[in-house]
Amino acid sequence: MNTNPPQNSHQQKNWQDDYRASLRNNRDIQRFFGIELKNNHYDIFIPIHIAKLIKENPNGVLAKQFLPSDAEYINQKDGLYDPIGDQLYHRSGKVIHRYSNRLLFFPTSTCPIICRYCFRKNELSDNDPIFKDPLSETIQYLSNHTEVDEIIFSGGDPLILSNEKLRSYLHHFSTIPHIKTIRFHSRTPVILPNRIDNEFINLIKEFENRFHIIIAIHINHADEATLSFKDSIKLLKENTKVLLLSQSVLLKDINDTHQALIDLFKLLHQIEIRPYYLHHPDKVKGAMHFYLPIEDGKRLFTALRKQLSGWMLPQYILDNPNGNGKTTFL
Ligand SMILES: *Cc1c(COP(=O)(O)O)cnc(C)c1O
Ligand code: SF4
Repeated sequence: MNTNPPQNSHQQKNWQDDYRASLRNNRDIQRFFGIELKNNHYDIFIPIHIAKLIKENPNGVLAKQFLPSDAEYINQKDGLYDPIGDQLYHRSGKVIHRYSNRLLFFPTSTCPIICRYCFRKNELSDNDPIFKDPLSETIQYLSNHTEVDEIIFSGGDPLILSNEKLRSYLHHFSTIPHIKTIRFHSRTPVILPNRIDNEFINLIKEFENRFHIIIAIHINHADEATLSFKDSIKLLKENTKVLLLSQSVLLKDINDTHQALIDLFKLLHQIEIRPYYLHHPDKVKGAMHFYLPIEDGKRLFTALRKQLSGWMLPQYILDNPNGNGKTTFL
């Protein structure tokens, strides 16, 4: 078994090429992995360079998170369609506004990969009106809501957008004086490390005197940290003032052990990403095989506190299905 951290063999390639070369349906999966899926209801998307890493280590954490399986069709009745109550929040234009000072902005429904555990597995498809809404309505809403000082780019994954598109959004938002902070929630630096290209660095530099810019990177396991990912983080660190945070999801059989979590948080510390959130898994319809009871999570987290300094630990949180937002544990 390959125990070395996976490496991205496409370091020199353009990230859009890495994105386009991908497995997108059952037939692709069958051809590449020789796996015959019985069911095929959920969307599939795996960039080829990740598919190769999965093939090298078929029992590894990448395979478990990204390879579709028939387990998605068991225990479906316990899972929720909208597990965090997204549809209950106040919506206007492309935003969901729950907390007074900050809101989620949805510029795209596209992701660099489809995670099988995704909490938006059943909703926020391309057809959701939030993605069709003209930007003017969002700008109007933001201008009227002077209590909002932070825009969180969500999705989908905002870093799948081109630098030109991001520049255009940032330009529009920079005309609203009370917007001080821009935060990106993204898995892209892990999946398509080449996305952090020189042009993106320049884009950040262009706006970092106007906004406090934060990138909260979605990473669940130390084995996801390829050399190219670490290089991308270094590029950001050395050239910009951006604050790097992490978000992880606690997932059964992937990172629900002391060792996996300790390795993850130590790694993040090493590459200067501040652990921010550890999400308890949601009860997602089609992803119940990743679920574990809250008592198990609390036990794990309590034990972690004995072994890691407070500043190395994220907040352990649960998104309430009733749309009430996040609850912090411990
Ligand atoms: C999670 C979330 C946020 C961000 O909250 P932070 O605690 O600042 O990370 C904002 N809006 C909504 C609707 C959310 O669910
Ligand atoms: S990157 Fe995030 S939004 Fe996209 S599939 Fe994965 S968990 Fe879902």
